[in-house]
Amino acid sequence: MQYDVIVIGSGPGGYVAAIRCAQLGLKTAVIEKYNTFGGTCLNVGCIPSKALLDSSEHYHNAAHSFEAHGISLSNLKVDIKKMIARKDDVINQNTAGITYLFKKNKVESFQGIGSFVDKNTIKITKDDGTSEQITGKNVIIATGSKPTYLPFLPVDKKRIITSTEALNLTEIPKHLIVIGGGVIGLELGSVYARLGSKVSVVEFAKSIIGTMDGGLGKELQRVLKKSVGMEFYTGHKVTGATSKGKTVTVTAENPKGEIISLEGDYCIVAVGRTAYTDNLGLENIGITVEERGKKITVNDHLETIVPGVYAIGDVVKGAMLAHKAEDEGIFVAESIVGQKPHIDYNLIPGVVYTWPEVASVGKTEEQLKEAGVKYKTGSFSFKASGRAKASMDTDGFVKILADAETDEVIGVHMIGPRAADMIAEAVVAMEYRASAEDIGRICHAHPTYTEAIKEAALAATSNRAIHA
Ligand code: FAD
Repeated sequence: MQYDVIVIGSGPGGYVAAIRCAQLGLKTAVIEKYNTFGGTCLNVGCIPSKALLDSSEHYHNAAHSFEAHGISLSNLKVDIKKMIARKDDVINQNTAGITYLFKKNKVESFQGIGSFVDKNTIKITKDDGTSEQITGKNVIIATGSKPTYLPFLPVDKKRIITSTEALNLTEIPKHLIVIGGGVIGLELGSVYARLGSKVSVVEFAKSIIGTMDGGLGKELQRVLKKSVGMEFYTGHKVTGATSKGKTVTVTAENPKGEIISLEGDYCIVAVGRTAYTDNLGLENIGITVEERGKKITVNDHLETIVPGVYAIGDVVKGAMLAHKAEDEGIFVAESIVGQKPHIDYNLIPGVVYTWPEVASVGKTEEQLKEAGVKYKTGSFSFKASGRAKASMDTDGFVKILADAETDEVIGVHMIGPRAADMIAEAVVAMEYRASAEDIGRICHAHPTYTEAIKEAALAATSNRAIHA
């Protein structure tokens, strides 16, 4: 065998797995079909979307908040091409970082499409049609996912687009229709709403970000309406979308069964992502994919039915998140050398990078009710936070759910300023099985947004919040 491990795909799952394998002394190769490393996350996902969210937030603040701070600006305008170019520069810095890390860790890389010849032999087909084969004792499939398409809704990638094209628009839409009120749709909708587009979100479920704790979606919808004028059609089932010239028409069935029609100039289809296993040659080694979602089935060790062939990240069950993929990459690398790593899937935080940000970890109230768990709640509103008042970010709240008998924290849900960063405190606390009282007794610096976590914990502990 030429390699101890061959990793197919260089997204956050694949590149992290490869680096950890190399750190552990395994001779490692990575195969990536694109010319840059980093997968969806670095090239068309997490990083570029956050770059545009940051740029658009600066503009929105300059246009709408600076005045209240006593700062006057005139002739404010957006140069969308420059904004997109900055985003591209951020991508390049990040993908170049992976090239550097591969070199530093002596991970060998190959450009091309990797496919199984047999369980130890991978054929690499390059862009020019030539191919070569490499062999490895273990193979990690980390081929990620691609946007899900609705069978009745043709995506022309010009006017009816996916998140990938939405990260590269050359003009600001006048009216952007977003199909799907999940994380990706709301983040990209926020970008353009802040830049001045009218944004309409059409969502099949009764609320946006429906998989998160119910209170979060309600508050987010209220704030996005108020702050950037987004409009929401929840409980609406999209029935079709067509584009003609510069006009896109989206039709949907409302909760009364009536068909409504929305006209815009762009439509983003953001209804989820499907595992990507095309051209992998899985049939050559007897691996089948699940009917729904096309995911590869793995056991608790993330090993497929073929010994020595593992799969991680978006291509397997669980949340489609970069940090989950990374942790699985490390898990498999350490398992291969005989270590006993562990991932607590209950403690993988979920974040929405709108403003205010939304972040969550552990069980939702809905899940606890369904499971019949007795719990208590403590909430604290940012309206009562001195730090939030200073920055004029008073929308949102922190909610802590604790076991009614033991006081152990079992869920933390927040919407507010810097919630994406603050959720780490909850994850650490829950990893160490903290009680609400433990968090309430920890000294939090003043004034910080994190004091809202302490106050919510005090509220959950016999209603002892000080500033509520
Ligand atoms: P991917 O990142 O999809 O990487 C898979 C790689 O495998 C790709 O580079 C692909 O080209 C390659 N590949 C596929 N088949 C082959 C083959 N046969 N041979 C060789 N190479 C192959 N997650 C977060 O946690 N936080 C966020 O803020 C966030 N924002 C997002 C925003 C958007 C717009 C999108 C679309 C996604 C976002 N995600 C976010 C999700 C995140 O990008 C994914 O969960 C993550 O990239 C999954 O990592 P992965 O390694 O499993 O797969």
